[in-house]
Amino acid sequence: MRPIKFKAVLHLGKVNDKIPEINITIDSVAVYPDGSIGFPEEVLKKKLPKGYEIYGDDFGAEIKYADEEGEYFETVFEMLMGDEWFWVEKDFDVMEFIGRKDKNGIEIYEGDIDQNGDVVAWCDRRDGWAMKVYDFTEREFVLCHCYHCEGHFDISEEIEKFEIIGNVYEGIKK
Ligand SMILES: [Zn+2]
Repeated sequence: MRPIKFKAVLHLGKVNDKIPEINITIDSVAVYPDGSIGFPEEVLKKKLPKGYEIYGDDFGAEIKYADEEGEYFETVFEMLMGDEWFWVEKDFDVMEFIGRKDKNGIEIYEGDIDQNGDVVAWCDRRDGWAMKVYDFTEREFVLCHCYHCEGHFDISEEIEKFEIIGNVYEGIKK
């Protein structure tokens, strides 16, 4: 059986034009039966862009944004806090590992974009992972490439050429 592994994308909220919405991807998160996720504090610290800091007490933690002078200060994300561990209940999406690697040896996750601009997503008709066409403006899938749907190829036939160039949450990275 393949290991069940997840990444999570945290959606740090847009406060105003000075603080835009950003998405941060966290590797190896735990997903709990109630739908919440958990991850070590250290993992998040490494991922936070400049200007974002974690502030917490015994009960909760927040990600805040501060400008260079440290004057402009806003909460952009809220978490629950355990022992060096954060729990998050909202404002995130999870990406499941599909059990395969791309041609560069990088693990492929749900939501990843390949070299053709297609996106990995679950297909109910195939009852497995498939490549789909994603409309970035409408934020929805418009076509599935698998044989069970409108398409004419299976993800397994393309896996050797597969090269991850980004994901639906962070966009194209190379
Ligand atoms: Zn399909």
